[in-house]
Amino acid sequence: MFGFLQQQVVVAYWRPFDGVRHGLHPDQPPYPGQERETLCGLTMTVGIPTEVEWLAPTCEPCWDDARFRRDAASRRAD
Ligand SMILES: [Zn+2]
Repeated sequence: MFGFLQQQVVVAYWRPFDGVRHGLHPDQPPYPGQERETLCGLTMTVGIPTEVEWLAPTCEPCWDDARFRRDAASRRAD
């Protein structure tokens, strides 16, 4: 069931909050009603995003953090 994790490193879970898509720490998948900290340091309550909310722009500090994590993960894999 979790075989895909061997191929791909999850660096962040993306969830819209306040009109911006933020990255959440990848330690566990978010579920609705859960309080989570974003990569840029906000605390948000996970909701059930609407189609429109998914179109929100990506939070830049979160994106930079996720990119850094991805690069660090691929360096470890080498
Ligand atoms: Zn953010």
